[in-house]
Amino acid sequence: MTSGAAQKVLCVLYDDPVQGFPPQYARDGIPTLSQYPDGQSMPSPTAIDFTPGQLLGSVSGGLGLESFVTSQGHQFVVTSDKDAADSVFEREIVDADVVISQPFWPAYLTAERIAKAPNLKLAITAGIGSDHVDLQSAINRDMTVAEVTWCNSISVAEHAVMQMLALVRDYLPQYGWVVRGGWNIADAVSRSYDIEGMDVGVVAAGRIGLAVLKRMKPFDVNLHYTDRHRLPPEVEEELGVTFHETPESLVAACDVVSIHCPLHPETEHMFNDELIGKMRRGSYLVNTARGKICDRDAIARALESGQLAGYAGDVWFPQPAPNDHPWRTMPNHALTPHTSGTSLSAQARYAAGVREILECWFEGRPIRDEYLIVQGGGLAGTGAHSYSEGDATGGSEEAARFSTT
Ligand code: NDP
Repeated sequence: MTSGAAQKVLCVLYDDPVQGFPPQYARDGIPTLSQYPDGQSMPSPTAIDFTPGQLLGSVSGGLGLESFVTSQGHQFVVTSDKDAADSVFEREIVDADVVISQPFWPAYLTAERIAKAPNLKLAITAGIGSDHVDLQSAINRDMTVAEVTWCNSISVAEHAVMQMLALVRDYLPQYGWVVRGGWNIADAVSRSYDIEGMDVGVVAAGRIGLAVLKRMKPFDVNLHYTDRHRLPPEVEEELGVTFHETPESLVAACDVVSIHCPLHPETEHMFNDELIGKMRRGSYLVNTARGKICDRDAIARALESGQLAGYAGDVWFPQPAPNDHPWRTMPNHALTPHTSGTSLSAQARYAAGVREILECWFEGRPIRDEYLIVQGGGLAGTGAHSYSEGDATGGSEEAARFSTT
């Protein structure tokens, strides 16, 4: 919460489409949702200045915030230039009060950057997952860190289910045969299986993990999960899902594993050589949570050796991934760039959620508890439930090696 003085809002967003904005969007709108699956209300700003279903998450879209922020007498700076030492982000952060960033194109708020921004009081994640902020430094500096809880959880769950099926059925190579003009069925099916009857597990059954379990149930698979807190017995029973105390126990019992915990010191590099070695040979691993939950080179090694039959997901470390990141070229992967949580549908929700948070902030009203990650010198709200204290931004400077040329 803050008073009415003019503030500088620094907003870091991904680049506009290099192929140009669509002359016409594929669809004329997006469905209107009345509430989230657990009854939480949708973002509720007093107004929005954008058209839901249009690109808002890139620089020109500006999350639809510019006129709102400037009409309140505040300054709004938006850029995609975030990583190099002489980047716009590095230059502008020194007197910023508020930083808005997205997990898809994260403006890493390291201890060094927080230290050089004495006015910085609020970091908003336009999405879910605030691991790009050094949460320990934010705690020590008494900053507020907030994210738009639920805004893209179902978007990610849909992507994870799609990628599990894509891996097990080996979809992408089959599509490749079609566009190359071939018809070689034997090649196309030599790694293709049915998921029916397989053991499918999630690491973490929070908003996304539970949504994945629910969506996988009709596929007639055996469901498994591990989490720090157990689901209510009636939910376990309805899903017929088996709880595992540890990730080790889970992976040993599964053919397909999907990761849905946040990145924090407890989960960093959880999937290393040792844990992957406990998986069944030929397992599939999907990671739409955070790249750093997996050990980069251990994943590549496991695909090379066949310990993993496939790896998919959309999260990398750092982001953007440098051009020589081994995941770009390792075998049997079906990775996307970090897109699952930024569908046009999701953008409308996180843009409205950021506006709601900013309205609260400018008017000195409390931000909803469910949006809070850090406040008052400690983890708060959703952050207190799902994160541990500490910093997971180490190594993020590598993002400066990304180049489009
Ligand atoms: P939730 O907070 O609803 O769920 C997170 C779950 O992870 C909680 O159940 C939490 O357990 C559990 N958890 C935390 N630490 C551990 C651990 N050490 N071992 C096992 N479970 C653990 O968040 P969401 O489901 O909405 O999102 C999860 C993550 O997905 C985000 O933090 C983000 O990193 C990622 N994400 C990715 C997106 C993308 O575009 N790819 C978009 C949105 C999110 P408990 O609370 O019971 O302690």
